[in-house]
Amino acid sequence: MAQCEVCGNEYDKTLEVSRGGETHTFDSFECAIHALAPTCAHCGIRIVGHGLQKGSAMFCCAHCAEHEGVRELRDRA
Ligand SMILES: [Zn+2]
Ligand SMILES: [Zn+2]
Repeated sequence: MAQCEVCGNEYDKTLEVSRGGETHTFDSFECAIHALAPTCAHCGIRIVGHGLQKGSAMFCCAHCAEHEGVRELRDRA
């Protein structure tokens, strides 16, 4: 049995996510998102899609990027 590193739940069907050479163990996508997903620099929502990046800032959509003065980004539709 593995243990979720976010909520501590022990579960027999955990999912493992590798990022930057580290492997993280979670019991659900909700916990994985909580631990790994970046947040939108404008509205603070967890970005679970591709998102948009400008420098070190991440945005959930072109609308939010525009609010922060970033104009050249467009949603990849
Ligand atoms: Zn969990
Ligand atoms: Zn946003």
